[in-house]
Amino acid sequence: MLGEVKQVTVSACGGKWFVSIQTEREVKQSLPNGGAVGIDMGVVRFATLSDGTAYAPLNSFRRHEAALRRAQQAMSRKVKFSNNWKKAKARVQRIHSRIGNARRDFLHKTSAAISQNHAMVCIEDLQVRNMSKSAKGSAEQPGKRVRAKSGLNKSILDQGWFEFRRQLDYKLAWNGGYLIAVPPRNTSRTCPCCGHVSADNRQTQAEFRCMECGFEENADLVGAINILRAGHARLACEVSGAVVPPAAGTHRSDSIGLDA
Ligand SMILES: [Zn+2]
Repeated sequence: MLGEVKQVTVSACGGKWFVSIQTEREVKQSLPNGGAVGIDMGVVRFATLSDGTAYAPLNSFRRHEAALRRAQQAMSRKVKFSNNWKKAKARVQRIHSRIGNARRDFLHKTSAAISQNHAMVCIEDLQVRNMSKSAKGSAEQPGKRVRAKSGLNKSILDQGWFEFRRQLDYKLAWNGGYLIAVPPRNTSRTCPCCGHVSADNRQTQAEFRCMECGFEENADLVGAINILRAGHARLACEVSGAVVPPAAGTHRSDSIGLDA
């Protein structure tokens, strides 16, 4: 073990045992690798970086949805608390834990790769929690485009955008880099070439074409470039304010999971 063991947690999940060991140690603040990058989060592509790198969507839940539904139906047909019911229940739990594992693995790999190669990462300050609130609205104020929104909400929750941001934040801090959240204003409608702002610049979800200068590019990449610029602008304006450079010699708290 590296460092002083602070806590050991033994847990059982989906028929497997897990041991998680938390340690604490003093680390030298490392110097970040690489430059600045902007990230556009999307449903079609999970993430698009301003350097052109794209990460495919996860959608792990949807991929397993059919299997899960079948297992749940089979379970509902069994006599409650019978041996066959218990077997069916274990199957449902196994599928649930497989979905969780696939998601965690994807999010950790992606956030690790991005944080190891960049000193500054800019991301849209999407209120994921608000967006994924029920799209239905209330009796007095019924929601608009309920179906479309609930589909998007499902994708957002499914792809773990919030968890991804949390991981990027602490992994960047480990490497001496930092995360900058920028307000999502006009990031998808501004031309990175001439600065023209118009909703018409984005006629379809995938394609960006400037009505003023004719610049054409993938819409997600345009978003990522604009997010990076907004991040640079924020950093320049708020050096004395909200954006605090990381302090030297910070504590690092690790958690290592062991599959027993
Ligand atoms: Zn333009």
